[in-house]
Amino acid sequence: MTAPRTAVVTGANQGIGLETCRQLAAAGLGVILTSRDEKAGRAAADGLGAGYHRLDVTRAPEIALLAADLSRQGKAVDVVVNNAAVSLDGFDIDVVRQTLATNFFGVLAVTDGLLPLIPDRGTIVMVSSGMGELHVYAPAIRARFANPNLTKEELVALVNEFIADVAAGDHAEKGWPSSAYRVSKAAVVALARVLARDLAPRRIRVNAACPGWVRTRMGGGSAPRGVERGAASVVSAALLADATTGGFFRDGKPAHW
Ligand code: NAP
Repeated sequence: MTAPRTAVVTGANQGIGLETCRQLAAAGLGVILTSRDEKAGRAAADGLGAGYHRLDVTRAPEIALLAADLSRQGKAVDVVVNNAAVSLDGFDIDVVRQTLATNFFGVLAVTDGLLPLIPDRGTIVMVSSGMGELHVYAPAIRARFANPNLTKEELVALVNEFIADVAAGDHAEKGWPSSAYRVSKAAVVALARVLARDLAPRRIRVNAACPGWVRTRMGGGSAPRGVERGAASVVSAALLADATTGGFFRDGKPAHW
């Protein structure tokens, strides 16, 4: 009997992350639910019969510890779902720094940290959003995000430029939206495209998925979708039957970017 494939999901103590764990487990994967709140995460994992590991995606030592623990257990990570994110109230340099630290730099660091454990033909999912669409940027910025030859270093520089422009007070003049969440969600779609190209030799599939507007703490009570439907959109990108990579999907269909 072959061991079940293993999935690691970030920010999974509640909301779409938790439901993603439930659906991946129902599909037969061994799930490692992670969260920054250990008590809530362990309770959620116990409820599903899933494994648990603490992980604040903004803390490099916790990412290293997760990778080391999985490596010691001889576990390959077949699927990574980068779900953890924040949507903070207001717009100032602190909100911008905190948002990008979690929603972009955290995603990048978790993916890089787990990469040595991801086997050839593994799958990485970046949970993005319709808020990641590029129509809100000045054409020059949009072109840089969408550049098919964009490198990881250039993408990091572009995100850092947004942070610097906000700090300097001229981000709007330069063509950025006044929303750190929007920039973070555009950046993870771009990251999926960059990594898809970089990891193509290993046939690792990297895609971004939008769950739609979902009733969670983040989405609020008026959202039209329940977590089942939102997570199903993410799970369809995690359980790809084919070699699709570098895309942005909602409900398994290409989403506008
Ligand atoms: P949620 O209920 O607020 O859950 C977000 C999760 O991320 C929580 O478990 C939170 O942990 C975790 N998190 C935040 N910062 C973290 C960190 N530094 N390290 C580890 N975990 C962290 O939101 P949700 O609606 O389920 O959102 C899940 C994903 O879907 C996000 O990427 C979001 O941007 C995306 N999305 C949601 C909607 C929507 O309508 N809900 C729409 C489009 C995209 P704590 O419980 O400790 O705060």
